[in-house]
Amino acid sequence: MHEYGIAYDIVETARRAAIEHHARLISKVCVDVGEISMINPEQVEFLFATIIEDDPLFAGTVLTCTVIPPVTRCDCGYVGSEIYVCPDCGALPSIEKGKEIVVTNIEIEADEE
Ligand SMILES: [Zn+2]
Repeated sequence: MHEYGIAYDIVETARRAAIEHHARLISKVCVDVGEISMINPEQVEFLFATIIEDDPLFAGTVLTCTVIPPVTRCDCGYVGSEIYVCPDCGALPSIEKGKEIVVTNIEIEADEE
């Protein structure tokens, strides 16, 4: 399942960041999900919750997925959100944004120094 790999990567990215910052708890993970990434954010949230279950580092961690609309660009100069046909010249635009899954922010709680 594609979503499982995505959710797993998100967990591992958050874990690495938490360890780097000596966190004892990850309170929130924010992820941008491209609208045309073919990923179901609800499924990623569900799998994320399954993976972090019983992990004290992720006790009560909230995963927030933000769906990012696509940005496409055509050789004719068109920039917009049409992903299949350029409305100006009919060519296939290239996709600049909207396919990626990116962890944008991680909120942690760290022990006092
Ligand atoms: Zn065009």
